[in-house]
Amino acid sequence: MPRFRKIGILSSGGDAPGMNAAIRAATRRALSQGLEVVGIQGGYAGLLSAADEPDKEVIRQKYLRPFDTASVSNIVYRGGTILYSSRCPEFKTEEGMNKALKACHDNEIDAIVAIGGDGTFRGATDLTNHGIPSIGIPATIDNDITATEQTIGFDTALNTALGMFDSLRDTAESHARCLVTEVMGNGCGFLSLYLALATGANALAIPEIPFDREQAIKTIGEARTRCGKRGILAIIGEGMPKIDGKDYGEIFKNEIIERTGIDTRYNKIGHIIRGGNPTLRDRLTATQMGVEAVNKLLEGRSNLVICVNENRITATDINFALVLDKMYKNKLKDGDLDNFTAFQVAQMKARCEARAAKIERLYNMAYDISM
Ligand code: ADP
Repeated sequence: MPRFRKIGILSSGGDAPGMNAAIRAATRRALSQGLEVVGIQGGYAGLLSAADEPDKEVIRQKYLRPFDTASVSNIVYRGGTILYSSRCPEFKTEEGMNKALKACHDNEIDAIVAIGGDGTFRGATDLTNHGIPSIGIPATIDNDITATEQTIGFDTALNTALGMFDSLRDTAESHARCLVTEVMGNGCGFLSLYLALATGANALAIPEIPFDREQAIKTIGEARTRCGKRGILAIIGEGMPKIDGKDYGEIFKNEIIERTGIDTRYNKIGHIIRGGNPTLRDRLTATQMGVEAVNKLLEGRSNLVICVNENRITATDINFALVLDKMYKNKLKDGDLDNFTAFQVAQMKARCEARAAKIERLYNMAYDISM
């Protein structure tokens, strides 16, 4: 028998296609195991609003909606999140946490499945530490969570952007233009990297790898002069630094024009790739993760983030996942590693090295075959 009767499900932070598939799967799995399910509206903010609201009926309608099987019908194919999302700075405060706990206690929510990014997981671990067992499911188009090889939404965003790049290619070819395009990614180059490989871009700049602008401009010039290329694509990851307050891609575009004379335009692919119907891959991943999150809670486990590694659905301790992420992003602070064994630290280092090596290998490949 599970130690609890009712779970809450929420989505928080940036939305990502496939969140709905995870909500559906977690809901249906919990119901099938005899649990009650509450859809928490608007992320952690929904819990806080519920704590402030005296009217139980208003709470049920607006903030903590009782879910039955029909509540999650016809959503597996839809982008966005039916639970809505928000940023809730108040939740990080002691007062906010007390409100969240009050909402859980008043409404008999015994455990929480939190779908989102690393901020969402920090919230989930805080809840666990305060007696509400919680599990995280990684959803962000950026694929910037080090503990998992794939986040929900990444595949859909790639495929959506891929269609856009194919369209850009058409116009670049027709007008013999170079198109420099910034792609969303929140400091993580995975979207840009995969797109460069899949679109045949001639230049790629991502935050993880030092970018040789001189060389890239030379390569673009040669693509035209030596190879007679008409349409030329260059991809810039969102996290590349601004120069004199201007987008990196804008500056790069100006330099290409100055140095090569090639007619060059700059544009951005931003929030448009956060929406849309999730791909098969995202639906499958999200569904399996949703089921696994509930399974883990039923096993009495918590404070985990569900991951995909080497094509298997796995679960990693949230604290491990958060510190691993900091290590990879060079954000470790004094004491962050204190609670981990030497073996765990070695595991983290190996994971970081493997991830960095993968990016470097694919980056070099993209350049190698760009002409
Ligand atoms: P993401 O989950 O996509 O990384 P955010 O960083 O905006 O997005 O986090 C989503 C929400 O998670 C925040 O609005 C906040 O309510 C909660 N959160 C973020 N960081 C923390 C933290 N350090 N402690 C507790 N809750 C947090």
